[in-house]
Amino acid sequence: MNIAVVGTGYVGLVAGACFAETGNDVICVDINQKKVDALIAGQVPIFEPGLEDLVKANTKAKRLSFTTSIKDAVQASDTIFIAVGTPQDEDGSADLTHVLAVARAIGENMNGPKIVVDKSTVPVGTADLVKLEIEKTSKFPVEVVSNPEFLKEGAAIDDFLRPDRVVVGVASEKSAAVMRELYAPFVRTNNPILVMDIRSAEMTKYAANAMLALRVSFMNEIANLCERAGADISKVRVGIGTDSRIGMSFIFPGIGYGGSCFPKDVQALIRTGKDHGVDLLISRSVEEVNKNQKKLIVSKIVEHFGETKLRGKTFALWGLAFKPKTDDVREAPALSICSELVKLGAYVKAYDPEANGTFREKFGDHANVEYVDSNYEALKGADALIICTEWNAFRQPNFKKIKSELVSPVIFDGRNIYDVADMRAHGFTYYSVGRPPVTW
Ligand code: NAD
Repeated sequence: MNIAVVGTGYVGLVAGACFAETGNDVICVDINQKKVDALIAGQVPIFEPGLEDLVKANTKAKRLSFTTSIKDAVQASDTIFIAVGTPQDEDGSADLTHVLAVARAIGENMNGPKIVVDKSTVPVGTADLVKLEIEKTSKFPVEVVSNPEFLKEGAAIDDFLRPDRVVVGVASEKSAAVMRELYAPFVRTNNPILVMDIRSAEMTKYAANAMLALRVSFMNEIANLCERAGADISKVRVGIGTDSRIGMSFIFPGIGYGGSCFPKDVQALIRTGKDHGVDLLISRSVEEVNKNQKKLIVSKIVEHFGETKLRGKTFALWGLAFKPKTDDVREAPALSICSELVKLGAYVKAYDPEANGTFREKFGDHANVEYVDSNYEALKGADALIICTEWNAFRQPNFKKIKSELVSPVIFDGRNIYDVADMRAHGFTYYSVGRPPVTW
């Protein structure tokens, strides 16, 4: 098939590369000239395991190309995927500016009938808006399909090539057939392609993200209670997760969910509820719990050192990305933690295996924040270590080295990556989430 993918971010680039991998001719479009230049030169501007190899191989095989010209891409393709960002608007709703700008550009450049597939996460009813926008300038027939994406950053290629399911919202059997053909190579183990009406497909994405966010917030709430009540969330987690009705996935407590999806999608769902006169009480609480959870580490730091004593103190920050195996820092807890610490007059020595650059870009240069090249370097002269992201490389460090580099042996672990008894044995003062602290 001849496919265009508009937007070469975490979703668009992965989708484009994976569709090319199964033999389609794919043109990826982006308005960001720098990004497109880099991609043409064989450089992948984001960190996503396996993506660079896939992009290089398919570019070399001439199945994958990059352009800033939406006209060239639209005119060469029968099926056009929209995979641009849908960030949070001021009122919490999804900002559809980019999606509708792409729809307009598609309409202006149509040269025949097309299927336009909305892969961006968009509220119920957006497919109708996209169709209207295209039809403002084009007389050619267009069918709009909703095909929300469920990949996880850090495992995006695997998720795309082997999805649990593919959700497709269509208005006709013709576009259903095209989508079935396109996704057939990815569901060879019989995982389902769920064909449904467009509005249900659009809603499925938000419902899925809100449900996952709910699990995280629920566990965080229980973790906070465990801490107060002298229970240990790591034991409670296993105790409940082994119930097959609950399951072990997505029940790790921490310092709050971040990323480009959960925060904005829960907000957008709340907003959609408001628009339809439905108060989504549970979703509002999920968000509220998460906001508070992001403040947890700093409040523990303040309690330990005393608020007035933080001025001039230095903190080693391990992990800046919102989760491991990505360089994405959107809504990362590290952003708010770093910002709170510098507000209190503290210094931060920050390290992430992949996200130093993206974090610096987002946070901006600040005299109190230094970016270093290794996790141990961050510890030099620091008064405590803070762990914000559970990268594997942080799980089994040299604790003797950590102790000798830190001014005082204090660890604030926002991801529960160490064993409480081990921390006591190593002589650390250790604070984690929902487990008894180690104090001396
Ligand atoms: P992103 O910000 O990484 O990428 C979006 C890209 O679109 C950027 O490169 C931007 O330059 C480009 N763009 C913006 N306007 C454009 C235009 N008019 N023409 C061409 N290109 C344009 O975004 P993302 O993380 O890939 O997310 C894309 C969509 O997919 C969002 O709706 C998001 O909610 C959804 N989604 C994201 C994930 C994820 O894990 N990141 C997972 C599932 C769904």
